[in-house]
Amino acid sequence: MRSIIDVLDLSVKELDDLIRQAVDISERPRDFADAARGKKLATLFFEPSTRTRLSFEAAMYELGGNVLSVPGAALSSAAKGESVSDTAKVLSCYADIAAIRHPREGAALVASEAASIPVINAGDGGHCHPTQTLADLLTVHREKGRLDSLTVGFCGDLKYGRTVHSLINAMARYPGTKFVLISPEELKLPAYVREGTIRKSGLAFCETASLEEALPGLDILYMTRIQRERFEEAEDYERLKNSYILTAEKMKLAGENCSILHPLPRVNEISVKVDDDPRACYFKQVKNGKLMRMALILMLLREAESPKEKREMGEDTGDVCQNLRCITTTEQELPQRFTIDPFTHRKKCVWCEAETKPLF
Ligand code: ASP
Repeated sequence: MRSIIDVLDLSVKELDDLIRQAVDISERPRDFADAARGKKLATLFFEPSTRTRLSFEAAMYELGGNVLSVPGAALSSAAKGESVSDTAKVLSCYADIAAIRHPREGAALVASEAASIPVINAGDGGHCHPTQTLADLLTVHREKGRLDSLTVGFCGDLKYGRTVHSLINAMARYPGTKFVLISPEELKLPAYVREGTIRKSGLAFCETASLEEALPGLDILYMTRIQRERFEEAEDYERLKNSYILTAEKMKLAGENCSILHPLPRVNEISVKVDDDPRACYFKQVKNGKLMRMALILMLLREAESPKEKREMGEDTGDVCQNLRCITTTEQELPQRFTIDPFTHRKKCVWCEAETKPLF
């Protein structure tokens, strides 16, 4: 039995298998209509969501399974102060599999360590969002016919955008990927992703603040929303919120095969006039997300009877995680644990992956 916290929990071969399975489901939906009959998916969303929650629920219904749903933290025991671990143990008594979204970074990992059912991370703070990445990968695969040798531009909030972090983790495993990181200075990609993922992979990357300069060279442009809810100062958000707006005019700078992706919701970063452009793929991504979640649920349910997979949980180094959004700041008696990244030589919190200061 295993949980999916990060897209790196899936091998490249498993990603290929999931893509194949999702395509199969889309071509022969009736053959899968009973595939999860008698099984229950619990969806537990402690943060707002429309697409992801509905997508998980639609996926489970289309597999013939059932859904148990707690619509929001305000209506759950979390509002009474229940820990994520206890909630996960309770869920394990009712459901066969769970999808969890939480504002604290590392919360899904905490849930998966406590649960005795597979847990899928449906977004933990600004950290990861692996099932959005599955939607993105299927979309790229369908549009380009491959996942390697692509120049991918990420534009907007690269600091807090968890979908960006997860997709970079995934794309860094395909040879020939080139990353173009487009953001204002304040919203640049965190060092743990830039150094620990991109530089470590040896793939080419560049950072720029100019969408216009980057556009002509891209195969994929992944636009993102500025993540208002993660800002400590409202005025910083106000200053940065309209940093990039992709308009029909700017689309003239993009290549004729440049696919435009966005995890949605969009808040002004793409003009609605771009929607009819054949290069706009963001509504296709939504459909692809449901198919990939169906494939993932089936895979995890198939493995659910085998012993629980053990993770590398680091050690107590005497450090305390400095990330104010880390689950260690709120979860009762959660041990501080760190691993040392062999490439960057920095200590990383096992829960949220934030780094302590450099070791050397
Ligand atoms: N829906 C995506 C997420 O949950 C993207 C976003 O909210 O901007 O991270």
